[in-house]
Amino acid sequence: MEKIKVFCPATIANISCGFDVLGVALDAVGDEMVVRKVDKKGISITKVVGQELPLETEKNVAGVAGLEFLKASDYSGGFEIEIYKKIKPGSGIGSSAASSTGAVWGMNHLLGNPFSKTELVTFAMEGERLASDVAHADNVAPALFGDFTLVRSYTPLDIVPIKAPSELYATVIHPQIEIKTSDSRKILKTTLSMETAIKQWGNVGGLIAGLLQNDYELIGRSLEDHIVEPIRSILIPGFDIVKNASLQAGALGAGISGSGPSIFAFSKGLEIAQKVAIAMAEVYDKIGIEYDVHVSKINQQGIKIL
Ligand code: ADP
Repeated sequence: MEKIKVFCPATIANISCGFDVLGVALDAVGDEMVVRKVDKKGISITKVVGQELPLETEKNVAGVAGLEFLKASDYSGGFEIEIYKKIKPGSGIGSSAASSTGAVWGMNHLLGNPFSKTELVTFAMEGERLASDVAHADNVAPALFGDFTLVRSYTPLDIVPIKAPSELYATVIHPQIEIKTSDSRKILKTTLSMETAIKQWGNVGGLIAGLLQNDYELIGRSLEDHIVEPIRSILIPGFDIVKNASLQAGALGAGISGSGPSIFAFSKGLEIAQKVAIAMAEVYDKIGIEYDVHVSKINQQGIKIL
């Protein structure tokens, strides 16, 4: 095979209580990419359609992740990459992660899968370093593995895939304001009290147990963030109103998607998830901020061939 076309899913990272360690892949939103094997060494980004993004290899996360892959590989040729961007950069639903993972997953497939998914995560994390100054794995891991993932440890990298309950749906609203991931990281505190830490790891454990036991109520109770949300939510206009409207409409819980400004909610069943979408949208209609809203099943597969 010389060429492959892939779907690269959008992802929700952090999921309230799991800053930098939890993420989940979505079905309804994602980019498309074409990866082509060529004799010329290196990575060329030949096309970006849908958004203004750099074509220079070192400035595009797909190029940076691809170069990491080539460094570790004994393949002597190179690759050309086309990106069809549907996920807006800076939206907080893993736009950069979709490109980084799509590039390395496609390259790996064309070479007969020499690298494991965890190795692909390490290459894609370098793309995340370019996008946000931090090589975090909480978007790239679910994009590659599908479903929910827990980054149990960064050194050494230990990724734990977690199956989502079958009726779990996500609603995500993206208010059209820009927050840079690097900026929304800078405002976070770097120390916390034991009391706060205890609350937070109780919720992380509760969320994982809820997912594994199909306990929707426990999932909802565990969607609490005592560390990041109280600070970051200040950057998102109407955050508290959108969150409350989601809960009123029947959502299990809601929080900031990644570094924002997108807000996510989880619901049991498509019908409630759609009601939540309407409730969220009404808030931004009233405030007068434009938005995109998505309702999605959890993506069980991660990146796939189109
Ligand atoms: P998101 O949370 O949606 O991934 P980020 O703010 O983390 O958004 O990443 C977007 C940043 O990465 C932007 O500054 C964008 O210019 C840069 N970038 C470089 N290449 C890409 C790419 N292929 N896809 C998306 N963003 C890219």
